[in-house]
Amino acid sequence: MLVVKPSPLTDVANVDRLTQHFRKQKEVGKPIYYILPSNKYLQEARKRKAGMAFKTFDDLADLVLKKAKVEFFPVSETERTLFFQELIARDKKRFLQPSEELRHKAKAYAETYGQLKRIGVSIHELPPQYKQMQSVFQEYELEWVQKQRLLDPENRIHEAVSLQMEDSLNLGGIVIDGYLDFSTLQYMVIQYFVSLGFDITVYLPEIDHAEILVETLDQLSILGFHAEKSEEIQIEKLPLVEVSSATTMEEEVYGVLDDISQKYDEQAIKNVGILLADERAYLDMLLKVAREKDIPIKQPIKKNVTDSLLFQFIYQSLLKHSGRFSSRWDSLDLIDTLLRLQFLQSFDYMTKKKAYIESESLEEKMKEAVEQFISFRQELPKKASLVYYLSVVRDLLAKSELTDNWKKHLLQDENTKKLQQIRFEWKAYDFLLAFLNQKIEMLQEQGLSELEVHYQIFVEWFYEGLQRGTIYIERAPLKGVQLYSFRDIALFEGEHIYVLGLNEGTFPKGHKLGGYLQESDLKKLPVPFAAPTSKLFRKKDDAFFQQLFLLADKLSFSYVVGVDPHNPLLPSGYLEPWKQQIIDRKYSTVNRFAKNESFSTYDYEEKIAYHVGLGKRVSSIPMRLQAMVHTLDFLEAGIEQVSAKWHGKLKREKMSVTMLESYAMCPFKYALERILNVKEPTEKRTTIDFRDVGSMLHAIIEKFYKQLNLIGKPFSTFTAEMTEEADHILMDIFEDEWAVVEQQHLDFSQLQLSIEKEDWQKKLRKWWLAEKKHFWENKQLQTMHLFRLEESIELDLKLNEEVTITLTGKIDRIDIDEHGFVIYDYKSGLASLNFDKEVRPGLKLQLPLYLVAMEKRLLNGHYQIDLSNIFTSVPENVTAHGASYISLRDPLKRAGNSVWREEHFGKNSPFSVNYRATKEETLSSEILLAKYQLKERLVELLNGSSKDFSVRPLKCINSCVYKPVCRVTQDQIEEGEGEWK
Ligand code: SF4
Repeated sequence: MLVVKPSPLTDVANVDRLTQHFRKQKEVGKPIYYILPSNKYLQEARKRKAGMAFKTFDDLADLVLKKAKVEFFPVSETERTLFFQELIARDKKRFLQPSEELRHKAKAYAETYGQLKRIGVSIHELPPQYKQMQSVFQEYELEWVQKQRLLDPENRIHEAVSLQMEDSLNLGGIVIDGYLDFSTLQYMVIQYFVSLGFDITVYLPEIDHAEILVETLDQLSILGFHAEKSEEIQIEKLPLVEVSSATTMEEEVYGVLDDISQKYDEQAIKNVGILLADERAYLDMLLKVAREKDIPIKQPIKKNVTDSLLFQFIYQSLLKHSGRFSSRWDSLDLIDTLLRLQFLQSFDYMTKKKAYIESESLEEKMKEAVEQFISFRQELPKKASLVYYLSVVRDLLAKSELTDNWKKHLLQDENTKKLQQIRFEWKAYDFLLAFLNQKIEMLQEQGLSELEVHYQIFVEWFYEGLQRGTIYIERAPLKGVQLYSFRDIALFEGEHIYVLGLNEGTFPKGHKLGGYLQESDLKKLPVPFAAPTSKLFRKKDDAFFQQLFLLADKLSFSYVVGVDPHNPLLPSGYLEPWKQQIIDRKYSTVNRFAKNESFSTYDYEEKIAYHVGLGKRVSSIPMRLQAMVHTLDFLEAGIEQVSAKWHGKLKREKMSVTMLESYAMCPFKYALERILNVKEPTEKRTTIDFRDVGSMLHAIIEKFYKQLNLIGKPFSTFTAEMTEEADHILMDIFEDEWAVVEQQHLDFSQLQLSIEKEDWQKKLRKWWLAEKKHFWENKQLQTMHLFRLEESIELDLKLNEEVTITLTGKIDRIDIDEHGFVIYDYKSGLASLNFDKEVRPGLKLQLPLYLVAMEKRLLNGHYQIDLSNIFTSVPENVTAHGASYISLRDPLKRAGNSVWREEHFGKNSPFSVNYRATKEETLSSEILLAKYQLKERLVELLNGSSKDFSVRPLKCINSCVYKPVCRVTQDQIEEGEGEWK
C-alpha cells in the first residue's frame, strides 16, 4: 500500500504515531524503517519510542547494498574531492599548472561530478560544454568506484537502486515522516522501494498555501501513491510578531538572551526556542554569551578533536611539516607543541623553550623524542598505501610516552583546569587511535590494503577525516532553551520562538548548483525527479517560513542592520510585511549598557566601565575599576619619569652622539635599549640584520683603503694602473667579510644567502665606481687627501655656564686639503640630512657635531704632526667645506643628504653638490651651533636622558623591536612627527 497522509505539522513523529507503527511492526514481525528528515528528529524519536528502526534515506540504500552483499568503503564528499586531486596529480601534464590551480580544478571537477549524481544523471549525459571533464569522471568511476569500491553517498544510492533484489529485504514497510519535499536521489530511493512492492506511508505536514507540498503530492501520485484527504487547517490565533534590528551579531545575541532572561524564569525557559538562520555564524557566539549570562541551552558541550594540542602536534607540527629540518627554527613548532603537551609549569615551559631558541639545548629525553619524530617525518615516503601511512602514525602514537606523562599529572596535580585539559587531550588521543584503527580495518576488510595515494593527499584526507570528530565535555542540561533549524523547528512545543540572523541573503539563502553546472543546464538534462531549481528552493523556504506561524504564540525576528546608518544591512524579504514596525537598533552596545540592572558582577562592572570610558561621572566606582582607570590614565599619558635618586644615578657628563640621537628619537626606546638593556626577542630572521651589514661595510672600506695604501694620501695617488688591483682587493675583502655575515645567519637558506651576497657585491662595485668618480679620478680634487677613516673623537662642548658635555663618536671618513675638510658618513641604506626637521630636534647630530669636533681639533693643533706631513705648511683658519652621508644604495648622491658651504654649489662644484643639499654661508662651528640652537637642544636631551623616558617619540620607526610592549598611540606618533615641522 502506498499512501500519503496529511499530518498536522506538530504531529511529526509524535508518540501516538510511533506507537501505531511499532504495533504494526510487531504484527508483521519485521522491522519498519521510519525515515525522518534531520538528526534532531531522529534523536527525539528514539527517545519517544524505543525499538523502532529510525533511519535516513542513506540507511535505506546501505541496507540494500548490504543485503546484496555489495562490498564497499564509504567515503564522504570531501574525500571524493581528494581522490579527484589524486587523479589530477597523476596527470603527466600537471606540471604545466600551478598546484593551487590544480586543487581548485580538482574541487570544481569533484563538485560537478557530485552535482550530476545528485540530479540522477550519468556522466555520459553531460552537456556538450562539459565534455572535457568526461575522461576524468570516467577514470574516477573506473579506478575509484568500480575497482577500489570507494563509494561516495551519491554513488551508494545509485548503486543500490540499480540492483535486482533476489532475496527479501526483511522489511515490514517504510514510514516517511516530516519531509516537505524530496531530493532527486530520495525520489529515486522511494521509486525503487515502490518497485519492490513495499508498503510505504508518507506523512506530509500541512502548511496552508505551501506550494512545495502540492508539488510533492503530485510527484508521489505519479509514483503510485494514494493521497488521503486533508482537513482544512484552522489557525486559531495568529502569533504576535516583533521584529528588531541589531548593530552587530554579538549585540543581537546579547539582546535576545537579555530578553529571554527578563521574561522567562528557570521554570518557564522550556517555553522558549531559538532558531538560528545561520547556525555556523551564530552558534559559538550564542553559547558563549549564554554561559556568561548563565542561561541554560539544551545543547551538549563538545569540543572538536582538531582543537586538541595532540591534533595540532600530529597534524600541524609533524605530518604537515615539509620534512626539511635544516635549522632550529624548522623544529621549533614541533618542540613547542611537545613541550605544551607535557603540561609543565609556565615558567618551566618558557625556560625550556627559551633555552632551545637561544642555544638549541634540550634535555636528553626530550632530544631523543624530538629526533625520533623528525626521523619519522623524514622517512615518510612521497607515495604509499593509505594503510601504510595510517599504520605508521598509529604506531608512532602508541609508542609515544605522552600518556605516561599525563598519568603522572593526573595522580599528582590538583589544578582543576589543568586536569581538565589533560583529560581532554587523553580523550583526543583515544579518539585518534580509534580513528586510525577503524580506518585501517575498514580498508583491509574491503581489500584496499594496497590503495596508494600521494603523501599530501593522505595528509589532507587525514585532516578531513578528523574534522568532524568531537569529544563530549558536558551533557545537555535537563531544562533550557532549545535550539532549532528551519528543518526541525516543528519539534518545538513552547510559546515563544526567537529567530536570529534573518538578514537578506541568509534566508532565503539563494541556491547555487555545485561545480560548473548552471541552472540553465537543468532544462537540457534528463533529471528524473525534482530538478533543483532556485524556484523549487524558494518554495521550500516559503514553507519553512510559513510553518513558524503554526508553532508559537509569539515570534521575535531579529537581524543585523550594522553600525553605518548610511549603508544599512537589509532584513530578509520575508520580513517585508512588518517593515513599518521594525524596532530599529533595539540591540546595540549603547542600549545594552544603558540598562540599569545587571545579571552578574562582571556585567555590572562592564556597564560602569563603559560609562566611565565615555567620560561620565559615576559614583561609587568599584575599587578594581578605579585601579584600572588609574592605570589606563597613566598608560595613555605615556609619562615615564624616574625618581630623583635614579635621576642622580643616571646623570652623565660624557655621552656618545648616537646615544643623544637615539634619545631624541624616542626616550622610551632609549630607556629600554640603553638603560634597562632589554634584549630584542630572538626570532627567525627573514632579512639580513642591518647592523651586521653596517659593520661589514665599514670593515670592508677601511681594509680596502688600507690595503691600497691610500689613507693619508692625496687623490692623485690613485692611478689607472691600480684599477684592476683595486677591483680584486675589494672583492677579496668582501668574500672574507661576507663569510662572517654568513656565520651570523646560519638559519638562512643557501639560496637566500647567495641572493643577498650578489646584491651586496653589486652595491659595493657601484660604491667603488662612485668613489672613483667623486674622489680618486676627480680632476678638481687631486690635492685633496683621504685623511682619516674610522676616526674616534672626543669633544668637550660647553653648553652653558653650568653644563659642559664630553661628546664621543667615530667619524667614518675625513678628507682634507689646504682650504678645509669634509666629513663623510657611510650608510648601508638611504639617509637624509634636513637641518630644520632633523638636526634642530636632535635626530641627526653626527655630521654637524663631527664638523664642530673636527674644526676644534684642527684649530687646537691636534693634528699638527700629521698635517705637516701632508701639506707644505699647516693651513690657516681651516674650516669645513661640507659634510655628507654616502649611501651604499645611491653612493653618487650629494643632495638632501649633505650640507655644504655656499661656494661649493653651482655647475663646477668640485664636490658635485646638488642644489637640494643644505647651503650654509659658513660652517664655522659656533655659528652653526647658534643658528640651529643646538646647545639648548643638547642641554634638553642631556637632562632628559637621565630622568624622562616618556612615550613621546619624535620618530617612531615601524620596525621598532619594542613595539609589542609599547603603548604608543597613533595620536602620540603624529604629535611627535609634527612637533618640529
Ligand atoms: S614603538 Fe615607537 S614609541 Fe614605542 S618604543 Fe618603539 S619607537 Fe618608541
